[in-house]
Amino acid sequence: MNTPQYRTLAVANQKGGVGKTTTTINLGTALAAVGERVLIVDLDPQGNASTGLGVPSSEREYTTYDVLRREAALIDTEKATPVPRLTIAPSGMDLAGAEIELLDVANRHYRLRDAIAEYAAQVPDLTYVLIDCPPSLGLLTVNAMAASHAVLIPLQCEFFALEGLAQIMRTIDQVRDRLNPQLELQGIILTMYDGRNNLSRDVEDSVRSHMGDKVYKTAIPRNVRISEAPSHGKPALLYDLKCAGSQAYVRLATEVIQRERAA
Ligand code: ADP
Ligand code: MG
Repeated sequence: MNTPQYRTLAVANQKGGVGKTTTTINLGTALAAVGERVLIVDLDPQGNASTGLGVPSSEREYTTYDVLRREAALIDTEKATPVPRLTIAPSGMDLAGAEIELLDVANRHYRLRDAIAEYAAQVPDLTYVLIDCPPSLGLLTVNAMAASHAVLIPLQCEFFALEGLAQIMRTIDQVRDRLNPQLELQGIILTMYDGRNNLSRDVEDSVRSHMGDKVYKTAIPRNVRISEAPSHGKPALLYDLKCAGSQAYVRLATEVIQRERAA
């Protein structure tokens, strides 16, 4: 069998507002900028990755909901973005019902995995698939993990960060045991980091001492330009490449690529 030439990474954390979508968009952009061919799969019913990449809901003929129901292929959903070599499979609100609709469907955990394999066969230059997960550890996130080589966890430096981390680590272990033996933790990304804030530094210290070099050296700072970019339908890297947040994502991408080459 041929080894696939692409890698699938799930960007997951059951908490909302920790930087999953921001990380997916900007990491995807940075990877595409160095020549990778990237597909972002929007698996959150909120569709923030789709909107943030300039694909409003009115322009989404087919969505990842149709893909999970096997009523469309990923390639049918695919939309161009402002970034060359970066495309997106958008989501829609109806995705919120998918968890329940698929409950008694055979092979429901592998719907996305199968769809990505089919897409990769149609797009031979594909090198990365990044999956933007919803804020839960339900069937959608499990589908993402079952389809992935590794998981990226954005972690906001706040008080309950470690408890939340333990929970998602258990889910990764369960998916590895039951559905996807190859699944790894690619790494943990500290997001919305504020070095002047004691709590941010304390959380950083304890996450680094528990998780060692699984934590990326690059922490993403809290940066207003990053939060402004989505309303312009652009990644922060296009909106303001020089801002501290964009520069951090560029460094993060370098670390991710190094780790991927070692994998
Ligand atoms: P999630 O996908 O985990 O729910 P988002 O990526 O949507 O999280 O981020 C939540 C909010 O925080 C968004 O409004 C986003 O623009 C903002 N945000 C994310 N990262 C940063 C950052 N580094 N600095 C400032 N705002 C950020
Ligand atoms: Mg999100």
